[in-house]
Amino acid sequence: MFTSLSDRLSETFKNLRGKGRLSEADIDATVREIRRALLDADVAVAVVREFTSRVKERALGSEVSQALNPGQQVVKIVNDELVRILGGNTRRLNLAKNPPTVIMLAGLQGAGKTTLAGKMAKWLKGQGHSPVLVACDLQRPNAVKQLQVNGERAQVPVFAPHPGVSSEFEASTGDPVAVAAEGIEYAKQKLHDIVIVDTAGRLGVDAELMQQAADIRAAIQPDEVLFVIDAMIGQDAVNTALAFNEGVDFTGVVLSKLDGDTRGGAALSVAHVTGKPIMFASTGEGIGDFEQFHPDRMANRILDMGDVLSLIEQVEATWDKGEAARMQKKFEDQEDFNLEDFLAQMQQIRKMGSMKKMLMMMPGAAQMRQQLEQFDEKEIDRVEAIVRSMTKHERVAPKIINGSRRARIAKGAGVSVSAVNALLERFAQAQKMMRKMAQGQGGAIPGMGGH
Ligand code: GDP
Repeated sequence: MFTSLSDRLSETFKNLRGKGRLSEADIDATVREIRRALLDADVAVAVVREFTSRVKERALGSEVSQALNPGQQVVKIVNDELVRILGGNTRRLNLAKNPPTVIMLAGLQGAGKTTLAGKMAKWLKGQGHSPVLVACDLQRPNAVKQLQVNGERAQVPVFAPHPGVSSEFEASTGDPVAVAAEGIEYAKQKLHDIVIVDTAGRLGVDAELMQQAADIRAAIQPDEVLFVIDAMIGQDAVNTALAFNEGVDFTGVVLSKLDGDTRGGAALSVAHVTGKPIMFASTGEGIGDFEQFHPDRMANRILDMGDVLSLIEQVEATWDKGEAARMQKKFEDQEDFNLEDFLAQMQQIRKMGSMKKMLMMMPGAAQMRQQLEQFDEKEIDRVEAIVRSMTKHERVAPKIINGSRRARIAKGAGVSVSAVNALLERFAQAQKMMRKMAQGQGGAIPGMGGH
């Protein structure tokens, strides 16, 4: 996500590196580049205009920081402004004081609502809630079935208007407004504390659709109305969002398909033009491809400063807690990561699925994107074999791995010596990056210092 925008901005900032002082001309040129990059990423024109004028004003202004050089200062300003247009603080779900909390999903057909319902249910379940899904998309013939499939994947019940998984879950009518209301009654009876109501979408914004969504909203008085938008729809996103904002007055936005080859402009415009926060992001077709949206972390990702916090969170969700705490402490104590840690990490990563996705969140990932795109997941097997052929002592102190040790390790793992060399070199780089990040915790921008 945001691939080309991220590349373009990195390129722009590169030109500022090492400058002791920025002239007005430097700032003008930088702002011009930022403007082009944002427009090419499909960010709405009005948002671009406001963004760039604020960046320029602040860059020309008297903000002087002892800690940052002028180039870093501009990066910091752009970062702050990105966070601002993405909505500022993280907005968490509003849970009802008297359960059940009712969450209604709205959006165009194909936006990703039904898929999201399953993802969200699973995520909420992981946090100790007991959600139920209610199928109010009675427009599309297959929608109810699809919600049931997603419910099964999340292992949560689905309340449906047609004969469903069990007669217990059937509603008495085919009217979406009535089904929504009955679904909530059902949740109360069965003591579910969260109800996720999936509604119908159309291919385009139309009055009837909006009326139905508004009727459901009025009937069930949801605690949250989440507008789901496909991040790939580009400039149309703003108009669609404005129409839904007026029609159903949603409380938050969910960006879906952020995994696609999206230019990302929708994400950068929607929160700002509607004044409603982005609360979640959907990042794939899998049930676990879902995350809470944090404006600050997203800005960091766009500026290629990495998203270490999301990485750690994802890690914590699947990792054994003791291991996660140990790594976190090492990081905080600025202790070096060694190959033992690396091996432990690799085993945990296997549990999480895609290594590529994890690597993409690392600082500096944009510069390595081409290599990462070609990343072969089987590589992990080879790497693990190499690390396993090392002695414990070698893993803890990789510096001692000389030529003859390399040859022995290669033989043991059934790979060439150059494969061992490549791994050790990559490891040394990763270690250096981690060190820099750990040192950067005290306020400097990770990955930006000292260039
Ligand atoms: P709805 O009509 O709004 O309920 O949309 P669906 O949930 O049926 O999603 C439409 C299509 O988009 C389906 O093929 C989904 O598998 C796919 N989809 C949904 N969310 C994502 C996502 O985050 N990433 C990707 N790549 N595909 C998604």
